Amino acid sequence: MDENFVNYLNFLDKKLKNFFEKQKPYIFCKKGCAKCCKQAHFPYSEAEFKYLIFGLKKLPKDKQETIEKNIKKTIKDKLNHKEDNYRYNCPFLLNDECSVYDYRGIICRSFGLMYRDDKGALKVPFCALQGQNYSNVLKDKKLSMEEFKKTGLKQKPLTFSVDYKFLTDDDFAKGFKFSFGEIKQLIDWLIEFYK
Ligand code: SF4
Ligand code: SF4
Repeated sequence: MDENFVNYLNFLDKKLKNFFEKQKPYIFCKKGCAKCCKQAHFPYSEAEFKYLIFGLKKLPKDKQETIEKNIKKTIKDKLNHKEDNYRYNCPFLLNDECSVYDYRGIICRSFGLMYRDDKGALKVPFCALQGQNYSNVLKDKKLSMEEFKKTGLKQKPLTFSVDYKFLTDDDFAKGFKFSFGEIKQLIDWLIEFYK
């Protein structure tokens, strides 16, 4: 376990806590929602993946076995799925709760906020269209200032710098003295690790 990477995660968590707090009127995440964990298709860096597995190995043996069964089933499904758009229930999700919460990756921590991607496009979490985060300020599937005015809220819906590419920028790694390493889909790390 790389303590410098954990220091970065702690720094990130503090920032994210503040961002989520600022957007409270638009955030409808609650324990047991987990829709985002059931549409899994996430990039993970090597540092994140190692930490996730470190967390897995800390769980009681029976939980580890259940997760490893889930992983093997997910890998089998993925290998039978020819198209690029494979989405899956995250194998670490047990009874709609993350079993490795403290060890989860960067996207798992930041998901649910609005942000602009590296091309400047506004990104609203998919669950907005399912009546969740930011759904109270959407119109025709887009963020609407007209809807915001109707809410009478003071705090505007804001975007934050939580694009994955930004959060895994080398400058953070240099500043905290660790390396993110290679970045690929979580499922591809799992395939490599369990092959
Ligand atoms: S981000 Fe959306 S899907 Fe995920 S827990 Fe929050 S409300 Fe649910
Ligand atoms: S690691 Fe945890 S938070 Fe991330 S997708 Fe899986 S269950 Fe959800």
